[in-house]
Amino acid sequence: MTVRTVLGDVESIGVTYAHEHLFMTGGWPVRNEPDYRLDSLDAAVAEVSAAQRLGLSAVVEMTPLGFGRSPSLMRALSERTGLHVIAVTGLHKSGYYGDDHWLHHYPVDEIAELLVSEIESGMDEYGLVGPLVRRSQARAGAIKLATGYHAFGRGVGRLVGAVAAAALRSGVPIVTHCDKGTMGHELLDALLGEGVAADRVVLGHIDHNPDAGYLISLADRGAYLAFDRPGRIKYGPDSEIVTLVGALADRGLGHRLLFGMDLARRSYWPSLGGGPGLPYLLERFVPRLQAAGLGDVAEAALTANAHTAFALRPKTTLADHRPSAD
Ligand SMILES: [Zn+2]
Repeated sequence: MTVRTVLGDVESIGVTYAHEHLFMTGGWPVRNEPDYRLDSLDAAVAEVSAAQRLGLSAVVEMTPLGFGRSPSLMRALSERTGLHVIAVTGLHKSGYYGDDHWLHHYPVDEIAELLVSEIESGMDEYGLVGPLVRRSQARAGAIKLATGYHAFGRGVGRLVGAVAAAALRSGVPIVTHCDKGTMGHELLDALLGEGVAADRVVLGHIDHNPDAGYLISLADRGAYLAFDRPGRIKYGPDSEIVTLVGALADRGLGHRLLFGMDLARRSYWPSLGGGPGLPYLLERFVPRLQAAGLGDVAEAALTANAHTAFALRPKTTLADHRPSAD
């Protein structure tokens, strides 16, 4: 099973965090909150190296277009540390982009074309913010898609069509931002309606809605659940997540789980004076799962599940999935 990283396609990725941010150098969040500015290669190397000493081998770098995503910094980090970095194309919540953004104006099939080019030809070093495109050698390995709190958000309906088409044509998975864990079923309904298989969808931030029945119902449909809240105690204690993992495992759904930390602030990085830092998941959270008899589930979530979730699948041609072609 092949995974697309910023240094090329690889056949094995090892212990993988499914939702991280290593570089976020501009855009709306950074303008409004300096704590979001992640622009130091040395700091990222320090963060990553500390977790690599505990076994971390790969991260999915979820910084989207328009947020100062940096293919060149991701490549430099990967070259310096040996960490596999899977980058994304695609957008964050539509409210983060202006009314004049192309997401509201370009035809859906041309948005799909832009996304596919980032996956197959290389990511734009400028993040598709202007008419000039400078392709990096680094190619995106997944597509980000984000919904609002209990609502898709303006323009996201047409974006769903573009993201689905691009995912089918390129074979990469779709990784979502589910605001406060909401909109899981609605997003699955929309993507499945466009011909995407449920197991090509990773629902992110979904543990921010720590409701076992809800999470079981999503995993039952075949989607992956990225639990990216461990360690960020301000959103709730880790014990809650341990209980949820147990509830999913009891239903035979442990193979749908992925873990990450989503440490998208300077104040989360020990190298910049904050915490908990990337080692926390392996050093503190996994032992909690082991103590609860969930060690095998944790191991699978970080390795086999992640490898399957982020592996490329055979490309689907338009004629294969467009109902109108029948
Ligand atoms: Zn994130």
